[in-house]
Parts: sequence; structure tokens; C-alpha cells
Amino acid sequence: MEFRTLGGSGAKASVIALGTWLSHDGGESAHEAIKTTRRAYELGVNLFDTANEYQHGRAEEVLGEALRGVRRESFMVATKVCYPMGDTPLDSGLSRKHIMGQVDLSLRRLGLDYIDLYQCHDFDRETPVDETARAMNDLVASGKIIYWGVSNWDSEQLRRVVTLCRERNWVAPVTNQLQYSALWRLIEKRILPTCRELDVGVLSWSPLAMGVLTGKYTSGAPPESGTRAHKGVGKLDWLLAKFTDPQVLRAVETARSAAAEAGLSLAEAAVRWCLREAAVASVVTGASSPAQVEQNVAAGDLTPPVDLFDEIDRILRPV
Ligand code: NDP
Repeated sequence: MEFRTLGGSGAKASVIALGTWLSHDGGESAHEAIKTTRRAYELGVNLFDTANEYQHGRAEEVLGEALRGVRRESFMVATKVCYPMGDTPLDSGLSRKHIMGQVDLSLRRLGLDYIDLYQCHDFDRETPVDETARAMNDLVASGKIIYWGVSNWDSEQLRRVVTLCRERNWVAPVTNQLQYSALWRLIEKRILPTCRELDVGVLSWSPLAMGVLTGKYTSGAPPESGTRAHKGVGKLDWLLAKFTDPQVLRAVETARSAAAEAGLSLAEAAVRWCLREAAVASVVTGASSPAQVEQNVAAGDLTPPVDLFDEIDRILRPV
């Protein structure tokens, strides 16, 4: 497994991280999620991503259970705050009040004494950014969190907060978690260069385009039952519909053949495609079984030929 530092910090994260959105739910599926998490750890994954809002807190609980008994110094847990956790105006956002309340609830659900990376899940236009940054700085000082990061922040928002933290001698965010895959390249224009310049590591979410970049869906056939495209993804259904458009799926099939010619699965090629960008600290993959983790983690120490990336660009960029 290759490791990269989280932005300008000294913490070395596995280039493949495991996320918990949709997969880590309570009830019957919790057992599989726990096995999946433990398999990822066994294979060298040391960064686990979750959020207070995933499955209304259950993702944090299941992740905490999966990691119970594992040597605390050997893994990092990243969680997030911002999205609604209740119906009142105080139940969302990045106010000091909400952050301070939520961090304790996340710690309790995870069963941990500290969070390694606490991320602002989105930008909050209604809270002064210095209030948020100061709250994060105070949480680092209190020992409840080790590092903090942001997610889905644009170039101006990131520059503002990093500049502010540097001016005030506050701890600055070390990561920005952003959607990035060979099928979703919006970040390349502005925010990715800004992250590079400010030494903020990118954690790319949905690096497999929600599973589409494993080649599991084909243009002529309906998605198999049990898959994400069959079950749906709620508020991000529009995104999955884009990825599963027949024209896109035909291009993905061509990319899969190109990867196979280079001796790689499409999932491996898609993960390494994100990691060709040095500012990407880790790709946050999702998995619904230990077998999927095994397939994805195999990309952790691969060096594919550079012309495969050119080929993937040529095939997937136009769609
Ligand atoms: P991926 O693009 O990696 O998609 C993961 C899904 O693809 C799996 O759940 C599984 O779905 C399928 N899959 C994965 N590997 C394989 C395989 N080898 N063979 C076949 N199918 C496979 O990432 P996600 O969309 O899950 O996002 C990853 C993480 O990113 C989340 O868990 C979360 O932590 C984070 N995230 C952050 C966001 C943010 O705003 N910051 C937003 C969204 C996600 P299935 O088996 O069900 O078909």
C-alpha cells in the first residue's frame, strides 16, 4: 500500500481510504459492513471516512464497532459536520454552537476519544468563516480532533480560510474532500490547482463514479438487484443517472477493455487515474463487501503505464 501525507500535515494516509456512506447502516447489513471495514484494515487501509449525517449517525456507530479493539494509533477516522441532524435552525451548519455539540455526539457514536480528521461537510454561507475556523482551532487545542479539513469548498472559500488561519496563527485545514473521478473532473479547473498551491490534500469521493467505473453496469442491461444503481441513492440519484447514461456506459466498456489490455481491472485503473494527480492524498472508495475491498485495494501499490491514463482520458473525457 502506498501512503501519502494529508496535505501539509505529517500524517501518512493510505492512498485508498474506505468510506461509509450507504454501506454502513444498522440492522442486518451492519455485519457485512464490519467485515468489509476489518478486511480493508487488514489490507493496509488506515483512513476511514464517515459523517454524522450518514444513515442518521448509524454509519459512525457501525464504523466505531468495526474498529473496536484495533490499535488506535494505527488508523485514522475522518468524520464530518454541517448537514442537518434535526429540524431546528440550530441542527445544521458550521456555527460554533453546532460544531461543539456535534463533535461530542460523533465521538460518542464512534466510541473514540478523538477524531483524526474533522471535516466541514460543505460551506455554510450563513456562518462567518472565522467563527468556524476558530471553533476548529479550539477543538484541535482541546484534543478532541487532531486535524481538520473541509469538503466541497470552492477555490475562493478555501483560499479565504487558509489565509485567515495563517494570519491568526490558527491551525489551517489540511484536506478538501471533493468529488473526483475519470467521469467527474470539474475540480481540475480551479479548486485542484488551489489545493496544490495551498498544500491542502484532496480526498476524492466517488472515485469509482458510484461503482460505474468498475464496469459492473452495461449499456444494454438493467442493473442487477442489490447494486447501487438498482437501489438508488436518494438525493444524488441525478448523479447516478448521469453516470449510467447508455452513452457513458458504452465509453466505460471501451475503457474497461483498455485497462484489461494493460493487465488491470477497470476499478484499479480508475483509482490509479485519480492518484496520478499528486495533490490527491487518498481516494475514498466505497464497498459493500470484503470482496469489493480486495479488488479496489489491489490498486494501492500499482504503477500503471502512463499511456493508459491518456487512453482513459481519450475515451472518457468526451462523455
Ligand atoms: P465509489 O465511487 O467508490 O462507489 C462505491 C460503490 O461502488 C460501492 O458501494 C459498490 O456499490 C460499488 N463498488 C465498489 N467497488 C466495487 C467493485 N470492486 N466491484 C463492484 N462494485 C463495486 O464511492 P462512493 O460513491 O461510495 O463514495 C465513497 C465515499 O466517499 C463515501 O462512502 C463517503 O465516505 C464519501 N463521500 C463523500 C461525499 C462528500 O460530500 N464529502 C459525498 C459522497 C461520498 P454496490 O455494490 O452497492 O453497487
